[in-house]
Amino acid sequence: MKLVVLGLSLSSSWGNGHATTYRALLKAFAARGHDILFLERDVPWYRGSRDIGEPDYCRLEFYGSIEELRHWSDKIRNADAVIVGSYVPEGVEVGRLVQRLARGVTAFYDIDTPVTLAKLERRDFEYLSPEVVPGYDLYLSFTGGPTLRRIEREFGSPMARALYCSVDPDAYPVLDVPKAWDLSYLGTYSDDRQPTLEKLLIEPARRLPRLRFCVAGPQYPEGIDWPDNVERIEHLPPSEHPRFYAASRYTLNVTRADMIAAGWSPSVRLFEAASCATPVISDEWPGLDSLFAPEREIVLASSADEAVARLSSRDSAALGKAARERILAAHTSAHRARELEQHIQEAAAARFGAGQKERNVKRNEEIVLVTGGAGFIGSNLCDRLIDEGARVICVDSLQTGRADNLAQHEREPRFEFVEHDVIDKLPQWLRGGRVKFTHIYHLACAASPPHYQADPEHTMLTCVVGTRNLLTLAEETGARLLLSSTSEVYGDPEVHPQTEDYRGWVNCTGPRACYDEGKRAAETLAFDFLRSRRADVRVARIFNTYGPRMRCDDGRVVSNVVCQALSGEDITVYGDGSQTRSFCYVDDLVEGLCRLMRSDRAAGMPVNLGNPSELTVRDLVNLVLAMTGSSSGIVRMPLPEDDPRRRKPDISRARELLGWQPEVDLRQGLKATIRWFAKAENRIERPLYAEQPLVVAAE
Ligand code: UDP
Repeated sequence: MKLVVLGLSLSSSWGNGHATTYRALLKAFAARGHDILFLERDVPWYRGSRDIGEPDYCRLEFYGSIEELRHWSDKIRNADAVIVGSYVPEGVEVGRLVQRLARGVTAFYDIDTPVTLAKLERRDFEYLSPEVVPGYDLYLSFTGGPTLRRIEREFGSPMARALYCSVDPDAYPVLDVPKAWDLSYLGTYSDDRQPTLEKLLIEPARRLPRLRFCVAGPQYPEGIDWPDNVERIEHLPPSEHPRFYAASRYTLNVTRADMIAAGWSPSVRLFEAASCATPVISDEWPGLDSLFAPEREIVLASSADEAVARLSSRDSAALGKAARERILAAHTSAHRARELEQHIQEAAAARFGAGQKERNVKRNEEIVLVTGGAGFIGSNLCDRLIDEGARVICVDSLQTGRADNLAQHEREPRFEFVEHDVIDKLPQWLRGGRVKFTHIYHLACAASPPHYQADPEHTMLTCVVGTRNLLTLAEETGARLLLSSTSEVYGDPEVHPQTEDYRGWVNCTGPRACYDEGKRAAETLAFDFLRSRRADVRVARIFNTYGPRMRCDDGRVVSNVVCQALSGEDITVYGDGSQTRSFCYVDDLVEGLCRLMRSDRAAGMPVNLGNPSELTVRDLVNLVLAMTGSSSGIVRMPLPEDDPRRRKPDISRARELLGWQPEVDLRQGLKATIRWFAKAENRIERPLYAEQPLVVAAE
């Protein structure tokens, strides 16, 4: 197997536990006949402290920047497996590059899993970000147990497996050395370990003054009240560790708080002590019993009494011997190398064997892309998907959408925002099937007449080029795509109410055409992809929708009228107000979109989503005036060109196929909308484009 590893460091073990981990693992991996290239970022700290020469088990090369890393593209591309480790500088970028290039299995090797997950939760993406996790075929973790399921379920990893630390039993042999201490501890000072050290070593030392104790390691603060029978060793070089353990009747294992919380996180010190056949007294944490048999191979203690009892009792040689046997049977670097090989093979089988789509369905993971997710409907949809437990990547150009709409997900690890215009090629890391999307809701497009008419060419291209970009992504990933089309495809309809079979009456040269014809073309593309079996698509024809998170400067009638009424401005009625619309509350619409996406019966046909209760613009204005108690006057404005006179969806198809119909009546929905707009911060207008009037119908 050709393996490329991008790790924090192989050349220097100064101030990091990674180098020793890689050295042991890769040496054992090479011994199994594999060919390894280790690529290390050349950074001054490690350059100045390299403590190995040219390794004989792998090729070690340095790169100075991501640009320089590209020189190794061929190696990355042609490797059977590429591993990127935690704490690699610019690890997210490195991961994207690897995922883009590699033809073989890609893996992330997390030597710091609890730290990594805590970082992701607080959106610290120093070396890993949520959106690159699903792109790695394999997530190898120093922490096992339930954390692995979490990495798969919450972060969308296709396969998370434990690859614990290990020990070289020849470097940690059993030495025949006179016993110097009854209980020792080897470890740097840390706040979170100190109470346990106090309880399991210092307090027993006080109670057993005739026994001898030792604490080796740096950074213990001045003020600690060490009993006289506790020896302190400030620094113990690694070469001395086996003698130190051998000179201890027992040694203590104390675990960091985050490792205890995650469980299944053995430390390398634990394995080293056991390898030296030194009986270990350990604090308790979940998963420890899956590594060593309690009482037979390790002693668990949670109080000073228990530690005292153990130290006062019979000798412990059998325990140490059993621990060493366990190491030789399960925790050497040779075992880890074999496990690594098996994990890579399993990931390769999953990736190249079963179809991607099938895998996603089987695992029941939803990884959802929402384009236009920062917009009015899109952000409400993102809320719903996050609530349902999906992983959501939201793409939005913020041309009409607003980052504020997504502020509630800022700390949500399952949510990722990407600022991007769908007209442009999607970012590399999203393409080529790297992220295993299951669903794509394609909502990106300016949708209110003043906005989509402000830059009609952009609107048309968003509909056509943008939709093609997303359909291609659906084709590459096997994701189902839902296209948000519009009632505008019916134009100024001659049929009332509009059924999906009605082909519309659209003016292809008018000011609304960039949107109407654009969406018609988008539908055409979607059905062409469907017909040629390139992508699985659903098409929603969305009718007038309203609700919280509309923009005050949206330009559409509900937001205009509500904002005008609330601020006491004149209400603008275009034409005589006798034109009709049917308004659907956003929650109802989101429900309809989700049902349509999931429906297998609604393939191959557009589905109207809207509220069939129709009213005139004049009636809407009167209702809003009554509900707000506003004393605004009404001003008549010219009717915009091509403004449809009547619009009302026939939703029989949605009723029958999706079992869906709107539940929120207009008064209820308006109440929520008015309440939302009543907050002044939601009425701030931020001009999108240079002021441009609506194109007005010729008198
Ligand atoms: N309208 C209005 N006053 C406004 C905004 C819109 O009278 O301040 C009218 C518009 O001419 C249309 C109806 O309200 O007849 C709905 O317009 P909107 O822009 O909300 O959406 P459309 O259905 O035209 O896409």
